[in-house]
Amino acid sequence: MLPSPPDKIPLAQLPTPLHPLTKLSEYLGGPSLWIKRDDLTGTTLTGNKVRKLEYLLAQAQQQGAHILLTCGGVQSNHCRATALVAAQLGMQCHLLLRGEQPEVLDGNTLLAHLAGATTTFYPPDVYRAELDELFAHWSDYYRSLGLEPYVIPTGASNGVGLWGYLQAAQELLADCAAQHFQPDLICCATGSGGTHTGLALGMHQFAPEVAVRGYAVCDSAAYFREKAVRDLTDWQRTYAPEQSVPLMELDVNEEYMGAGYGLADASVYRAIQLLAKLEGVILDPVYTGKAFAGLIDEIKQGKLSKVRNVVFIHTGGIYGVFPYRDNLAHLP
Ligand SMILES: *Cc1c(COP(=O)(O)O)cnc(C)c1O
Repeated sequence: MLPSPPDKIPLAQLPTPLHPLTKLSEYLGGPSLWIKRDDLTGTTLTGNKVRKLEYLLAQAQQQGAHILLTCGGVQSNHCRATALVAAQLGMQCHLLLRGEQPEVLDGNTLLAHLAGATTTFYPPDVYRAELDELFAHWSDYYRSLGLEPYVIPTGASNGVGLWGYLQAAQELLADCAAQHFQPDLICCATGSGGTHTGLALGMHQFAPEVAVRGYAVCDSAAYFREKAVRDLTDWQRTYAPEQSVPLMELDVNEEYMGAGYGLADASVYRAIQLLAKLEGVILDPVYTGKAFAGLIDEIKQGKLSKVRNVVFIHTGGIYGVFPYRDNLAHLP
């Protein structure tokens, strides 16, 4: 039994559409491919993070927060969404970003800037070693100014954020029923883990026969399994203290992350181009393009020959395409 969900602030355009990828399925000659358009959760808030932020922002407001503190890479979709949500709700926002301050603002960073977010850039080694201290430092700083901070962890992946994709799992099952098919495999990119874990928890509850695969865009399968246990434990303690932590075999594929976070190879750019040409859908080089390149490769290798219906969750990322213009503009 699922506990009843906490409050949320409606920020996303839901439900998102579920489309068949008819031309691509035919081209690949594999299973029927479908796409859940979570890139259509909004224009400014496009992507998966807003489903989680709906729940985190309700908690932030209940706690009387004035300023949102969060973190990510320089082109973080999560940071862009958080900055715009803050503006929509009349809150402030401070982003702690991993990497060098770019000379020219682009993509997500440009939009976060327009939304009025404060940004601080940290060298990657400092960011990795000291993130907790940096959040503590800035929280103290804002409290000293009389402002209540609310810290959102990387990718809004924690026990509260899990609700976003737990509910999305239910929405997706209803979409599939309305289109008269049973999904066999659900796929998504996984970066901070919350989307995959939320979907897996949802399917574990409502349709345990459905497999949920996360294609890692950084970090190992072992890392993601451990992160899932942490988030599920956080979720269970808060919302279902009388239950045990749901144990699931998390299906993480770590074969397609390439050289690491934000580093794509030719197969990723070709996957982006293929989907754009055949279906008019734009993927991104950091997350969805990488995951989709993995899915295509598995189909080509015959690994999904027993699977009939695959649903790919399009988790957004369109503003992250533009900073990769040099890699994408000259594809043959
Ligand atoms: C953050 C993000 C993901 C990964 O989701 P997590 O819940 O962080 O694992 C996938 N796709 C896009 C476009 C994202 O911005």
